[in-house]
Amino acid sequence: MTGPLILIVEDNPRNLKLVRDILGFAGYRTLEAQNAEDGLDLAGRHLPDLILMDVQLPGMDGDEALRRLRESARTRDIPVIALTAFAMQNDRDRLLAEGFQGYMVKPISVPDFADQVGQFIHAGAAGREP
Ligand code: MN
Repeated sequence: MTGPLILIVEDNPRNLKLVRDILGFAGYRTLEAQNAEDGLDLAGRHLPDLILMDVQLPGMDGDEALRRLRESARTRDIPVIALTAFAMQNDRDRLLAEGFQGYMVKPISVPDFADQVGQFIHAGAAGREP
């Protein structure tokens, strides 16, 4: 099976496992990192189709990781979706203004999660067509 490759950057082991299991069950391939530094390394080496980025990470946070992904010619076009516990509208607006392609609010909706990810992948692929 060669489903789309998704990089999950999430420091909470239970959330990471949940997201990985949902996506794996839906036929996606996944890469996992529990901090931004490892996530950036995996992104540069594997060029995933989509990155799910926890905003609150120990050390380098998700916002800074997004900036670094955008600074690199190799990774700047990879769609990055924020995983966030921030649910207020101004927080969501801030994430989009910073350059995240979208956001998913935690706790995630298990029945809808894979479909939502699929929509982000479809939108990202469409955005990259010549
Ligand atoms: Mn976190």
